[in-house]
Amino acid sequence: MTDYLEKAYRVLKESRDAATEAAENKKAALLKDPQYAALEKECRRLAFEKARLASQNRDISALNSEYAANCQKREKRMKELGVSAEDLKPGYSCPICRDTGKVNGRDCACLKEILYRILGDGQDIPCPEKDFLISSAADAIDEKYRDSYKKLYSLLNRYVEKFPDVKRVYLLGGAVGVGKSYAAGAVSHALMRRGFSVLFLNAVRLNEIFLEYHLAPLYSKQSVFSPLTDADLLVIDDLGAEPILNNVTVNYLYALLSERSKPIMITSNLTNAALKQRYTDRIFSRLLDKDDSKIILIKGSDLRLK
Ligand SMILES: [Zn+2]
Repeated sequence: MTDYLEKAYRVLKESRDAATEAAENKKAALLKDPQYAALEKECRRLAFEKARLASQNRDISALNSEYAANCQKREKRMKELGVSAEDLKPGYSCPICRDTGKVNGRDCACLKEILYRILGDGQDIPCPEKDFLISSAADAIDEKYRDSYKKLYSLLNRYVEKFPDVKRVYLLGGAVGVGKSYAAGAVSHALMRRGFSVLFLNAVRLNEIFLEYHLAPLYSKQSVFSPLTDADLLVIDDLGAEPILNNVTVNYLYALLSERSKPIMITSNLTNAALKQRYTDRIFSRLLDKDDSKIILIKGSDLRLK
């Protein structure tokens, strides 16, 4: 059984090792220059000497200026060789945790991002463009539908602003190609920019995770399921596209909807009647609780043709 968290840590470690190695290689290349190497050696000697004298409470002011002058020469030589001080620092993919996954003993946001990406099978969340949800984005849409898209975007903008104080389930319905996944993706990116964690899964992938959970030994079940309940927002994209697996799909979808207290956004081509028939009454009533869910039916043209 795959341990997703372990995989995420491995990705971070590889990135950390690569960053450290690249920095070390640059330093080694620099030391091949005799002039630089001599200045570097002298800097080290002076630093050591300063520490030694300071520990004996002796005056080190003369040494300090000698050290500073030498450092300046070293930096100058470095520049001549086309290297900046910045180049010698490891270029971590996450400067906050330096690719360790931990900040002050807590999980860094990048760890979740990597974990969720692995869970989503490496698929990109659609619509990373920052300005997708602004109403002028609707100007490119058929005049006939423009107003309804403007309304949709302003509603989703409010969702992002109010998050996590939003209805528990948002269901974006409508025909194929009206932009449901795009809208859910744009919301996801906007929330991530605000520092929330978002797990975006298409229903086929979620179904595979359910199956993995079903087959997992008891001790590792929790590690498969917990990201589904932990993420600040869970997006289930294209509900209904997945095959129904006996004892798996409906059961675990119900378990997920019952256990998860944080917001969920679902996109689906299915009508309410079709959803009810496919997933049974008990799931349908969880999805569409009058007080705690909202259905948005997107009526529009096929945006994918544009
Ligand atoms: Zn980080």
